[in-house]
Amino acid sequence: MYKKNSNVYLSKVGFQTMRTCSTIPERNSSCENEEKDEDMFISDIKNPFEPAQRVCILCKYKIPLDYKNPKLLSQFISPYTGFIYEKHITGLCEEQQKRLCRAITLSRRLGYMPKLLKAAKYLKDPKLFDPFSPSRPNPF
Ligand SMILES: [Zn+2]
Repeated sequence: MYKKNSNVYLSKVGFQTMRTCSTIPERNSSCENEEKDEDMFISDIKNPFEPAQRVCILCKYKIPLDYKNPKLLSQFISPYTGFIYEKHITGLCEEQQKRLCRAITLSRRLGYMPKLLKAAKYLKDPKLFDPFSPSRPNPF
């Protein structure tokens, strides 16, 4: 019946005195509901230092990448160089970035998009990210 906390008490007081002592039954009753031990650490709490999970914009809104959608694809192309933005700027996950590159190259080969530049009609489109303050540090 007696659990770890009460063992120390038992050894000090002795069994005979414990039976006669009036304070023992109270302690005994508290020992029975010992499953909620206040001295133990709380195990169900979440780690407060865990970094928030990053979800890329295409996965978040479930936007399909299609080679026939040059308006979407050209949002990931730099207006200055005509190159595809790197992963640390776009903030996409690895899988989506690969799909993006594949879709853009296919779209360029099939003539939906210009190869060396960003199409002029998409230059004023809203920007998904700022290339001058990338979401992740530059890996190079
Ligand atoms: Zn993603």
